[in-house]
Amino acid sequence: MNAPETRVYEFGPFRLNPAEGVLLREGREIPLTPKAYEILLCLLQHPGHILDKEALMQAVWPDTFVEEGNLKVNISALRKALGDTVEGGTFIDTIPRRGYRFVAPVREMDAVPSRLSAAEPVQVTLERRKFERRVTEEEEIVEAPEPAVAAAPAVPAALPPARRAGLWWAVAGIAVIALALLMFLAIPAIRSPKPSRGAVVRVTYTGGRLQAFDEQDQLAWSHQFEEPIEAPRTTNHNLLFADLAGDGNREMIVVVAFQQAAGVYPPVNTIASFSPRGELLWSYQPQMSLSFGGREYKGPWVVRDVLTSTDPQHRGVWVAYSHHTWWPSFLVHINAQGLAERRFVNSGHITTLASVTNSLGSFILAGALNNEYDGAAALAILRDDQPFAASPQSPATQFWCDQCSEDRPFRYYLFPRSELNRLEVQGYNPIDSINPAGGQILVMTNELPKSGAVGYRGVYALNSHFDLTEASFTDSYWARHDQLHKEGRLDHSAVDCPEHKHSAVRVWDPEKGWRESDIVASGSK
Ligand SMILES: [Zn+2]
Repeated sequence: MNAPETRVYEFGPFRLNPAEGVLLREGREIPLTPKAYEILLCLLQHPGHILDKEALMQAVWPDTFVEEGNLKVNISALRKALGDTVEGGTFIDTIPRRGYRFVAPVREMDAVPSRLSAAEPVQVTLERRKFERRVTEEEEIVEAPEPAVAAAPAVPAALPPARRAGLWWAVAGIAVIALALLMFLAIPAIRSPKPSRGAVVRVTYTGGRLQAFDEQDQLAWSHQFEEPIEAPRTTNHNLLFADLAGDGNREMIVVVAFQQAAGVYPPVNTIASFSPRGELLWSYQPQMSLSFGGREYKGPWVVRDVLTSTDPQHRGVWVAYSHHTWWPSFLVHINAQGLAERRFVNSGHITTLASVTNSLGSFILAGALNNEYDGAAALAILRDDQPFAASPQSPATQFWCDQCSEDRPFRYYLFPRSELNRLEVQGYNPIDSINPAGGQILVMTNELPKSGAVGYRGVYALNSHFDLTEASFTDSYWARHDQLHKEGRLDHSAVDCPEHKHSAVRVWDPEKGWRESDIVASGSK
């Protein structure tokens, strides 16, 4: 569920390639626990800077509360793996009462792109897009695109205290003003060298410069931001191409993370759209404040996943944001002109997005967690033209969104944490993939989070009516189950496991509310 990174980090005899998720020492893999790996990656991304204990814990355990002891244990394991001594190691310094610092020189390199897209040559017709405001329905919330260079952290709009509709109208009002301003804002000049012919397949983030490279690895164009940028760390996708405007040109949608002060987590995440020639068409940074159970959550919000839609009716970009520390998250739809509408709020991080079109219509599927229900994996199924909706939560709890719409998703699934997840993991079992294929939708949870390569997964299949047809676990899950039984940590074998017999998946829909989801026979209904 972490970002495919474009960077490789080398230090001493070690090499860490985040895209592969392994640490190598002179070509040999050094085993690390998932958390130790994450901590190391975090340190490598901020070499020479002190990372506060709190910042590190938020980065590595974003959805759970952990004791500081966990961090210490993992740092100690990490030092051991790196061959560091406990006192004042050569790689990782302890800053008493504050945190840790990676002190050895780190060489950062661009990874060779692992996948070149089969990009057709792009016919370039250059035209500056006009921003226009679409009239939206009463309940839809419109946010203006940020001015083109949205480098500084957004100043939260001063909104009146929450009357339900009042807040949204205030936002809409601000949007109108911002849009009016925007009409007069020049799109900044592009510092583009001779554009190459090929389509862009990768970007690098260096200082304030975003550089776009084509299939021949030639620099196609670059764009200078006013502040230092870095590759986003939280999103599954940071670079997508789609013809959003429907004019035959593919725009490039990229997530850019603006560094705040050195070592401060998180960076401010912005979504930007560029023309094939490298013109910045729009950029968007949410100025969102959400209240749950009387408590206000402001950003910064970090991008978790991005999805493009070229359906002529709903062209645009779907972006899932989560709070950098707490559990709230939301989904926005941004159209080709950069106008954003909030579509869904979830009481738990959204972890992955997918789109599905079937006989029932066009849908966006948001894989998520839900913090009210024991951190169960959650799947929100939303009509792609659905007005602003919120996840089904219990009123008068801290998970109830105070000013959210009363609209709800088309359907909402909860996949409970598995026995091994409850035994071995503190917290949650995120959905880490949604694969619509062959008339069914395969949803997988990561029962031992951050250990993606190991494959302890819950596997849930839905048919084209979004009914559950299968709930199971992978073989490696059962192998681990057997091992734990042998070690005496489980009192039953895989064969006798009650979770074989009972999936306990819950589903919510507007007609029936919550109920237990029976598994329907494949192909039925
Ligand atoms: Zn069991």
